[in-house]
Amino acid sequence: MSTPIGRFAPTPSGRMHLGNVFAALIAWLSVKSRNGGFVLRMEDLDTQRTSEEFAEILRQDLQWLGLDWDVETQPQSKRTAVYDGYFERLRDMGLLYPCYCTRSQLHSVNAPHLSDGTYVYPGTCRNLTPAQQASFDRAPAWRIIVPDRNWKVEDLVQGAYEENLATDCGDFVVRRADGVHVYQLAVTVDDGESGVTEVVRGMDLLSSAPRQMYLQELLGFSHPQYGHVPMLMAPDGRRLSKRDKDMDLGYLCSHTTPEDLLGLLAHACGLLEKREAISAPELARQFSWERLKKENICLDISELLR
Ligand SMILES: [Zn+2]
Repeated sequence: MSTPIGRFAPTPSGRMHLGNVFAALIAWLSVKSRNGGFVLRMEDLDTQRTSEEFAEILRQDLQWLGLDWDVETQPQSKRTAVYDGYFERLRDMGLLYPCYCTRSQLHSVNAPHLSDGTYVYPGTCRNLTPAQQASFDRAPAWRIIVPDRNWKVEDLVQGAYEENLATDCGDFVVRRADGVHVYQLAVTVDDGESGVTEVVRGMDLLSSAPRQMYLQELLGFSHPQYGHVPMLMAPDGRRLSKRDKDMDLGYLCSHTTPEDLLGLLAHACGLLEKREAISAPELARQFSWERLKKENICLDISELLR
């Protein structure tokens, strides 16, 4: 078997919060437990919210946790020309069309909203004539035609997950009207080009996997193994988020040790039988996907700060 290659692809828009830490930890443990490689990549397509300053803090946070990486690939903001090349390939295949729908049209016309707040695009602009297209005085977004076919994800955590892009998603945007390539395309290209064999990330991205599998197939990349890890919840049932100040590493670095933090996380998610201070390499030696909990994980950070 070839060497497994995992990755962590944070958005450098602030300090790492515990949800990021957890996804990075599991991604890292999975490949390091099998002597695999680990890729770091900054997902900074949104240049308004992201900065190199935050990227540097993220690197320091990972180092503090003991999660090292073998290579950091070029940040997404520097890869527009690369994405353009793949975009052209898709267009040459006859799969892309311009979409002139405004945001409010998309939200009013499209009745079936999915649980994650997205909607099924009904193909409004798919068959516009050149004359109709020319009648709009704004730049279009570009959508890709999706096949009426089921995509099955054999997820390391969630098990089998299936989606038909035609009925569950509709033709989706690959390039926005302002020229920025969307996450789905950038991620597919970046993971494919860096030889990533395993994509471990938060459960909230599970429904992205079928769209990425479709793009992988079109662009000639192998499908990676997916592992969508559960969300972290506060004891009161809230989902932990960036908004919780005490959940970011800026605060935690000065109130605890990396070993105590990793021990708390590993115990909460089922990897450790009892809570004890432990380093990332020690955890890697005993990592197994089977032990990882599948449901939301309750994390009581106050246990750490006492
Ligand atoms: Zn449209």
